[in-house]
Amino acid sequence: MRTEEPRPVRLEDYRPPDWLVKTVDLDVSLHATATRVRARLVLEPNPKGAPGAPVVLDGDGLALKSLALDGAPLAPDRYTATPDRLTLAAPARPLSVDVETLVDPSANTQLMGLYRSSGTYCTQCEAEGFRRITYFPDRPDVMAVYTTRVEAEKDEAPVLLANGNFVGGGDVAGTNRHFAVWHDPFPKPSYLFALVGGKLGCVTATFKTMSGRDVELRIYVEPGKEERCGYALDSLKRAMRWDEEKFGREYDLDIFMIVAVSDFNMGAMENKGLNIFNDKYVLASPETATDTDYSSIEAVIAHEYFHNWTGDRITCRDWFQLSLKEGLTVFRDQEFSADQRSRPVERIVDVRGLRANQFVEDAGPLAHPVRPALYHEINNFYTPTVYEKGAEVVRMLSVLLGRAGFRRGMDLYFERHDGHAATVEDFIACFADANGADLSQFIRWYSQAGTPELAVTGRFDRKNKTFRLDVAQTVPPTPGQPVKKPMTIPLALGFVGPDGRDLPLVREGGARLERGVLTISQPVESFTFTGIAERPALSLNRGFAAPIKVSANAGADDLKFLAAHDSDPFNRWQAVQSLATGPLIAAATGRAGKAQADRGLIDALAAILADQTLEPAYVAQALSLPSESDIARDIGRDVDPDAVFDARKALRVKTAGALHDALAAMHRRMSNNAPYSPDAASAGRRALKNACLDLLAADGGDEGITLAARQFAAADNMTDRMAALATLSLHDRPERATALEDFYRRYEGDPLVIDKWFALQAAIPEPATLERVRKLTEHPAFSFANPNRLRALIGAFVQLNQTQFNRPDGVGYAFLADTVLALDTKNPQVAARLLSAFKSWRALEAGRRARAEASLRRVAAFEDLSRDVSDIVRRALAET
Ligand SMILES: [Zn+2]
Repeated sequence: MRTEEPRPVRLEDYRPPDWLVKTVDLDVSLHATATRVRARLVLEPNPKGAPGAPVVLDGDGLALKSLALDGAPLAPDRYTATPDRLTLAAPARPLSVDVETLVDPSANTQLMGLYRSSGTYCTQCEAEGFRRITYFPDRPDVMAVYTTRVEAEKDEAPVLLANGNFVGGGDVAGTNRHFAVWHDPFPKPSYLFALVGGKLGCVTATFKTMSGRDVELRIYVEPGKEERCGYALDSLKRAMRWDEEKFGREYDLDIFMIVAVSDFNMGAMENKGLNIFNDKYVLASPETATDTDYSSIEAVIAHEYFHNWTGDRITCRDWFQLSLKEGLTVFRDQEFSADQRSRPVERIVDVRGLRANQFVEDAGPLAHPVRPALYHEINNFYTPTVYEKGAEVVRMLSVLLGRAGFRRGMDLYFERHDGHAATVEDFIACFADANGADLSQFIRWYSQAGTPELAVTGRFDRKNKTFRLDVAQTVPPTPGQPVKKPMTIPLALGFVGPDGRDLPLVREGGARLERGVLTISQPVESFTFTGIAERPALSLNRGFAAPIKVSANAGADDLKFLAAHDSDPFNRWQAVQSLATGPLIAAATGRAGKAQADRGLIDALAAILADQTLEPAYVAQALSLPSESDIARDIGRDVDPDAVFDARKALRVKTAGALHDALAAMHRRMSNNAPYSPDAASAGRRALKNACLDLLAADGGDEGITLAARQFAAADNMTDRMAALATLSLHDRPERATALEDFYRRYEGDPLVIDKWFALQAAIPEPATLERVRKLTEHPAFSFANPNRLRALIGAFVQLNQTQFNRPDGVGYAFLADTVLALDTKNPQVAARLLSAFKSWRALEAGRRARAEASLRRVAAFEDLSRDVSDIVRRALAET
């Protein structure tokens, strides 16, 4: 029998914990199938909790071995223990509880709690994994000081690590076992607990902090892979320095450790002093990693390090506040990357990602606010909305308050909330208080879902030399939120004069517009600017300062002008994209009359290719047309993915044909024989070279394919080899099969590289691909137990391959449903992630919509679904 809908957790039901934990003493004796965990918790009643409440500790699949109160064993009638809860009546005074549990790390296929990855013991406790290790008040507002003793066989686990500073260790007399003791003096929530035991290689370095303390840095990896850690270590040092310089934040322990493991559900985890990483975000060498891999490693290393302050020292009161740490820390890592690389290019890359993932989520059945008001399964809220839109909200604060005002707010936040579990209200109050600002309307960004839309009409009055902007804002309905209140939106703008220069922005009354930002707060507003002698071109939402959609009464001529002249590099790129979007939508929806419009795009790209002042990475971004999912999102409803694909392909072929000579010349200019270096400028030249190559081969003709095949064979680095293979993969020619075979032979035995090989094949936009993917699931290098393999093969197919996942016969949907059902009992978290590929099924044309719904209903009808999968499927199917 299917049980009724489980009860959701609601933000409004938050109550402070009844008991607080002062200290936790853990003694973990590692064993492959029977790890014994002894925990001594020193508890005290919370003055803010319910008086006289029993001690209630969370568990998940636990077996209690023994229990003592203040050192005395407890009789069974004094407590109740189930696998998911331990309750004991206790006097309302400080006391200690000793809990002993037995856990089986080898049987842990969910990869939450304590598990083994290729023989290494490791943990993942966010969000609710600690309760799979021992009974505990497993909520982030219970912060305690941890001391951890780890013991294991010397042969099996010569390296023993836990949070904090190393205190001591040694042999266990009379056995072949040894132990290590670690102490973390900073109170932390249980989700930041970590331990590791295994055979690991190590690279080390020393970092001198701003106050002159030496911190030891260590990165642990599978033995033999030490030489691939150099870039991660260098990124870590740069991140530590940057956080000191930009935010005044210094590292606090004597040692900072990163451990790379190969089986990991997420990207990486910011456990205090002991970050555990998916090895994909640590290991890099020129022969095995692309430029994109290098920049991801830099960003993820920085992100997890930055959490030491935004997440660890100041944590979240409850999981509804997840964006308090994630949105803020994504903003911080984006700013770090912008400072390390090209700021305009980083912004373009981030916005591409936001639109492809978050805008799509916001427009579909899984839409939710940056701070959701309820959840059934918190693991399903590690979403683009919480992370990327959350980062945009923080970025808007910096736009509204200016750099100095933003820093004042951050300083106050660190000063006020260090050592505590905070809320979104606490965070926003710091910016309001530090700047005397009213942010009471701004905070709606956290509670209202949906992407706001601004319709802007500009009216030029030649006689009075004025320019009037009429601005109307709407926020579309989303699940559970049919009607929205107006938002506070910083609208960064420029008026570009006929000579290409920005005109001064002077409001009626003579005040200059501060930082070029208008603050929008009403449903409909008008603003008049004076001293405008000629009609300017409107450059709106410069730098993409607000995560919104903007439409204006501007024509193709304005876009062409902005594509050539806008001083804001983001909007210059945006103008090129917009020139492509019009004809693409027209072609994909069967509307005619686009020939003229294509010309606008081609002229704009020709001008950009000829502009020697632009950095290569930027030109590469301009050459990259809107993606299939960008076009589908802009069409909005009744989308036919095949028509979108055909339209995009046709425009690529046409553009490449028209620009052939310029592309070929640029491809030659960007090619050189210098040895590989991962720096941003070199990466930019490779990006432009490979963007040119991909366009030159767009028609599948001999010239481009031969060029790609030659590059594939001659490349001395993974970026160039992979780019050539990606280009070849789009064309059903013998060169593709040869290159794929060659690639496998070269990198066989290197799982992270073979993941690229899986992903590329899964993304081939041809009807034979589903069968290819099915066959690859039986390939010896594939494993359903490893999240990286699953994401590479199945994830790439359902998320990147728009035409084949969305096959009109529905077999792509059926394949995903089968995979999710097979995976759900083993790793529900990854199964739910894969299922969320259905997030825009309602936007499809009727035939595909019906087949997608049938597959979703088949999943929904299954008995014993995990909470993760049943939550996604229920929301995906819900009538809004
Ligand atoms: Zn994070």
